[in-house]
Formats: sequence, structure tokens, C-alpha cells
Amino acid sequence: MPHIHVLDQITIDKIAAGEVIERPASIVKELVENAIDAGSTSVTVEIKDGGISFIRIRDNGCGIPKEEVKSAFLRHSTSKIETVEDLSHIASLGFRGEALSSIAAVTRTEVITKTKDSDLGTKYVIEGGKEVSLEETGAPDGTTFLVHQLFYNVPARRKFLKTPMTEAGHVQDLLMHLALSHPEVALQFLNNGQEKLRTSGNGKLKDVIYQIYGRDVAANLIELDYEKGGLRITGFLGKPVITRGNRNFENFFVNGRYVKSGMISKALEDAYRDFVMQHKFPFAVLHFHLNGEEVDINVHPTKMELRFQKQQEVYGTVFEAVHRTLLEPELIQRAEVPE
Ligand code: ADP
Ligand code: MG
Repeated sequence: MPHIHVLDQITIDKIAAGEVIERPASIVKELVENAIDAGSTSVTVEIKDGGISFIRIRDNGCGIPKEEVKSAFLRHSTSKIETVEDLSHIASLGFRGEALSSIAAVTRTEVITKTKDSDLGTKYVIEGGKEVSLEETGAPDGTTFLVHQLFYNVPARRKFLKTPMTEAGHVQDLLMHLALSHPEVALQFLNNGQEKLRTSGNGKLKDVIYQIYGRDVAANLIELDYEKGGLRITGFLGKPVITRGNRNFENFFVNGRYVKSGMISKALEDAYRDFVMQHKFPFAVLHFHLNGEEVDINVHPTKMELRFQKQQEVYGTVFEAVHRTLLEPELIQRAEVPE
């Protein structure tokens, strides 16, 4: 047996990167969430080749001061929390301080960033976790990330990437969810130079739904706003005429974060049971607002599956909120009109 030894930092980061970065969409998720955390009102995402060879993300957020750019790329470095207690009232999407170090470990990354109070910006290039250059440069306020050649140094992972079309689809799905969770951010997505998504950033969820799903869906929505026991649910339900054969139309957000939850899906579908045919799933965009202490978002690095402290009560509240909204008289009439 070889001697036991501690791995070098670059190897550690490469391994750890696997937890956070699985495909181009993971990089886009981390970088757009960072842009939102930085207070951006406008974010542009461009990819080529499904994001495998090229991702560019430009924001108009607060930027990173020159003397902090390098540390932003260190593992476990974050400006968002200090102690584990902060996790209970976390307002930002990120907090682990793992994204930039992970991305840099498995790509060639370039960042150009400038804060408002600085005349010049900073350009930092890092490749496979190693610094290439750091220099001052003219730049607009905000941050631009350029990420090239995902997994160029991890062939084992590169093999598992799907076709550019499939990867671009994952990016588009993700951006759709980010747009629905942040109607106050103008989001633009270009795939190989073609615009695939654009939201206005006017803060109106209904407008984002229209921009993503089109007129037929937007014309068949019922607004939902319900509060019980410290949980407020807002958003839109689709009238029973716009059901689907799968769950792709179910979108849930908890305190601004897109989540998957079998429990919420079940409550939603149970509440629709009397209104739709079997094996049909409703359209829903529901935002859950509750005290951060009642959800545990610290379950997985990608933070998508979450746990409520009071699962059963949340189920009851969702069911009630949806059922009551669907029982609004005008809607019953509509539901009876044949398709
Ligand atoms: P986390 O988001 O968990 O804090 P990251 O590795 O994603 O960790 O980012 C590290 C730090 O870099 C952030 O805490 C933030 O201070 C800074 N940062 C990253 N992206 C941006 C951005 N687009 N604008 C401003 N600051 C950023
Ligand atoms: Mg982050």
C-alpha cells in the first residue's frame, strides 16, 4: 500500500467540482445565481455548443473589488455567510462558496469585473484552478464571466456530457425557472447567437409566464394568494383546460429558489383531482414565502430538493390554497366548457 497523504489543492478542487458541476447548466445556474445575489437587474447568458465550449454571462450587479477577486475563487470563500447560524435566515441563493473554485478547477475561466466606486475593472484568468493572469482593465460596472472548455482536464467527466442540443435544453430549462423565480430581473438567453428567452424584468410574474409559455397559457391563469400559519403562497394556477401529460408544468419556488418537491406536487394534484382527467397534470407557478428557519435548504449542493419542518401542515395548506382557488365560481363554469 502507498503511504497515506493529503491530496494537493488542485486535485481536491477537481474532485469537489464534481459535486457542484455536472454539466453546462450547472455552471449557468451558479453564475446566474451569483449575478442575482449581486443585485443585478439585468443578466445576459450566451452559450455555444450547448455551453460545453463557451458560456458568457454578463450582469450589472455590484462587481467584485480588485483585492477580492482572487479570494472569490478559493474554495469555501463567500461574502454571504459568516457562521452556520446565518443559514437559518439566509437571503441569498448562494452561501457555500464552492461555485467559483469548482468552475475554475474544470474549465478555463475569465472574469472581468468592476465595482461602482472604482475607475478601473479587473480581469482575472484562471485555468484548471491555476492562475494565468490578473490585470487592470477598462470595464462597465458589473461582472462578466467567460467559461471555456468544460472538463478539458477531466476526460472521465467530459464523456458523460450529452449532445450540445440536449445540454442547451438543460440550460434553457434552468433559465426558465430562474426567470419565473425572479421576475424583477431582466433575463436574456442566446444559444448560438439566437435569442431563446427574454424577460422584461418588470417584476410581474404573469408577464414572465407569458414570455415563457405564450398566450394560450397566459390567457388561462387564475391568480392564487393564500396565507396560513406563517406560510404565504402566491402565484398562478392554470385553468383545467390547459393540463398536460407530464409534470413539466409544475413550478415551485421556496423563498425565491426553484425546488422539486414530491409533497407539493401531490398536494397540488390532489386538489385538482375533481377538476381534471386522470393522468393529466396541472399548470402551476407557485411561490412559497415562509420563515427561513422552517425549511432546510442545506440538504444538497445543488439545493434543489428541500425539506420543510412541518411537511404535513404544508401539504394541508397547499391543498387548501389550490382547492379553494379552483372553486371560485367563474372557473367552474369555464371548466365545464368542452375543449
Ligand atoms: P457563494 O455564492 O456561495 O458565496 P461562489 O463561489 O459562487 O460562492 O462566489 C464566491 C463569492 O464571489 C461570492 O460570495 C461573491 O462575493 C463573489 N461573486 C461571485 N460572483 C459574483 C458576481 N457576479 N457579482 C459580484 N460578486 C460575485
Ligand atoms: Mg454562488
